[in-house]
Amino acid sequence: EELEKTNADLRRTHAELEAANERLHALATTDGLTGLLNHRRLQERLAEEARRSTRQGISLGGLMVDIDFFKSLNDKYGHSTGDRVLQHVAKVIRDSLRDIDIIGRYGGEEFAVLLLEASKQETIEAGERLREAVAGTPLASRGSPPIGVTVSVGAAAYPHDTGDPTGLLAIADIALYAAKRNGRNRVEGLSLHRFEYRPAAGE
Ligand code: GH3
Ligand code: MG
Ligand code: MG
Repeated sequence: EELEKTNADLRRTHAELEAANERLHALATTDGLTGLLNHRRLQERLAEEARRSTRQGISLGGLMVDIDFFKSLNDKYGHSTGDRVLQHVAKVIRDSLRDIDIIGRYGGEEFAVLLLEASKQETIEAGERLREAVAGTPLASRGSPPIGVTVSVGAAAYPHDTGDPTGLLAIADIALYAAKRNGRNRVEGLSLHRFEYRPAAGE
């Protein structure tokens, strides 16, 4: 009887430990505000998916997403509304993508997406869907008009843009910069070929 009691105690302790471990793992891999993957976990997933894509010769898409004029939203509505905007945009992004796609909060008001087995064209299309979803879903708030939010998106894909998928998000980030420069609330899928050096006539 003593033994049975000890066994039951042990099983309970084991279950408690497992639950604690799960909570710890969630804390270490997700962003507390949005529930998306945190930066570190996203980098790990990129490394994993890059390895898989290279080994199996399958495409991989990457998006960098940055909220437009977020600083003015913070200034106008306050930091806690800014946080609500971040949660809202995170959810709209999640809902606009497939379950298998990997989404992380990359930095303050920046998100990154890995699109498994997506070609360059499919990556740009997913970016466009995401952009439209955010622009078309203002954040409702009681007592005041809904808050409109837009995002700019940079798209890149392996092998279209690079032979090394580990650099995918860095290339998408350059494309994002172009999307900002070209007016925001838009998707850019940079063609790196444009930047190849071509000697001018006579050079
Ligand atoms: P752009 O269209 O060029 O991206 O302009 P922007 O204002 O979005 O860009 P900028 O980088 O100047 O501003 C980002 C702001 O995001 C600055 C910072 O105060 C705010 N921010 C970063 N993290 C958080 C957060 O967790 N919560 C809130 N409320 N604001 C944040
Ligand atoms: Mg930013
Ligand atoms: Mg921004």
